[in-house]
Amino acid sequence: MKILDGKALSLIRAENLRLRAKEFHKQKGRSAHLKVILVGKDPASAVYVKNKILACQSVGIHSTQATFAEGTSKEAFASELMQIQSDENIDAVLVQLPVPPPLTEEWVQNQLHPSKDADALSFESLGRLMAGRSWVKSCTPQGIIELLKHYQIALAGKHCVVVGRSLIVGKPVAQLLVQENATVTLCHSQSRDTKAQVKSADVVVVAAGKPGLFGSEDFKTGATLIDVGIHRQTPDGKLCGDVRWDGLDKVLAAATPVPGGVGPMTISCLLENTLILAERRMKGF
Ligand code: NAP
Repeated sequence: MKILDGKALSLIRAENLRLRAKEFHKQKGRSAHLKVILVGKDPASAVYVKNKILACQSVGIHSTQATFAEGTSKEAFASELMQIQSDENIDAVLVQLPVPPPLTEEWVQNQLHPSKDADALSFESLGRLMAGRSWVKSCTPQGIIELLKHYQIALAGKHCVVVGRSLIVGKPVAQLLVQENATVTLCHSQSRDTKAQVKSADVVVVAAGKPGLFGSEDFKTGATLIDVGIHRQTPDGKLCGDVRWDGLDKVLAAATPVPGGVGPMTISCLLENTLILAERRMKGF
């Protein structure tokens, strides 16, 4: 079984991102700037934000954090976000999800300006993705496509099954797979025949957020697995995905590990999106 190594690919991609960040600095006289917004005190979100800021630094992108207290009102958040988004020295903005009440993901999405929307979550960005006219694409779905392309996993005419229909993973990755000429089935918690669909698939993307949802018995021989799920196991604290790893190597042709598969590609695409948005603005779009 081929390991689809997102960590290794993200290191290869970092070389190019570093060059682009350097070129931007040369032309603009400052670094491209990503503002990461954290609301509340969720420890996992705080770690994700820290890692994103460190990843930016590693390729020469300037990244700063704005922190809002849990319970921040919609009015106060919208007013601050408007200031951040109108700052000429900020090229891209990422709001770390989930956000605590009274904010909601859908409400936050609606506040994002597409020209600075680093994770392509605004309704306009999602519409552009649907139309195949994106400026930037959602980071995790785009990272999955880049990984499949790098390892030359054929998609045209193949049956791809996506398990999960969130706006951050399932729906956009299904759309990107369609754009790669795959035939796509999207399953969710109300689907009656998810296991049968998965068993018939050439490529399976699992983004259900349920550890152990599938195992080696659920896949067709020679299939490719992208496991998006990420969970901290007890009691050892190790990370695992939505799919049990034992026995997969006897069935699958290729699979992403957890950790080290989709996660690093998500961050790599966030860095690329920041540069794409910064370059667009520099060119006056
Ligand atoms: P989410 O918003 O909770 O969505 C989960 C989706 O899975 C929903 O559409 C749900 O269906 C579906 N689902 C749940 N149980 C199912 C079942 N038994 N059979 C079929 N479908 C089922 O989750 P998400 O934000 O997309 O994230 C999914 C996982 O990916 C999580 O573990 C998350 O931590 C991880 N993640 C990883 C990265 C990364 O970079 N590695 C990025 C984002 C997310 P309904 O719509 O019917 O409820």
